[in-house]
Amino acid sequence: MIPLIALSGRVTGDADKEHAGVHLHYALAVRRAGGVPIILPPSIGADRAAEALGPCGGLILTGGEDVEPRLYGEEPHPRLGRLAPERDAFEVALFRVARERGLPILAICRGFQLVNVVLGGTLWQHLPETGSNVLDHDRGQRWAERTHRVRVRPDTRTAAALGTVELLTNSFHHQGIKALAPELVGSAEAEDGVLEAAETPPGAPWFVGVQWHPESFWEEEAGADLGLFTALVSESRNGQVRPAAPAPGRF
Ligand code: MN
Repeated sequence: MIPLIALSGRVTGDADKEHAGVHLHYALAVRRAGGVPIILPPSIGADRAAEALGPCGGLILTGGEDVEPRLYGEEPHPRLGRLAPERDAFEVALFRVARERGLPILAICRGFQLVNVVLGGTLWQHLPETGSNVLDHDRGQRWAERTHRVRVRPDTRTAAALGTVELLTNSFHHQGIKALAPELVGSAEAEDGVLEAAETPPGAPWFVGVQWHPESFWEEEAGADLGLFTALVSESRNGQVRPAAPAPGRF
């Protein structure tokens, strides 16, 4: 059975020429990992998140706009980027429904930040202002350009999925995790101490959040990054409910 994996979508483009979708890399990574990508745009509405997730066996919260700082009790910083209130509301609802159902969840970049906020954590609104030793985390010309090193804590879900405890990642984020939500465990960090991944403790439903963009390496034959997607798909397969067989005696 091939699991359906929900991808939270975004709206891009100028007024009157707006498109709803995801960066194609996410859909290609899910496909390559053995799942069927299902794109859920924010226009579905937070009130219909449960129906939208209906048959999906796993959820990926994708990258994009900055998370509304008032959701973690802060006023907007001057360097705050573009916000997406409708998307925030929809993804918070998707996350809550997926969590209630015990679905495995992979959260990427903004998705990771959003989950941290929903669970009571806070964010740096603009990383370059947090100290002189902070790396440039918002760089690279191409999505698949690896720009900084990440150390992964051994014996974590993150290390198991990646199959390594050290890797070079791409980095396209100007925000970062400040206070990690109490129920999450940090599982990777950059050389400057910026948190690059976190996860649920053993026993809880599978959740991994990463600050980089593993989907951009979907094409790599032997890359560690696709492992995050295959781990999610594998967990989904375990959890997915099979459709009921047709009742006997009916035409
Ligand atoms: Mn980074």
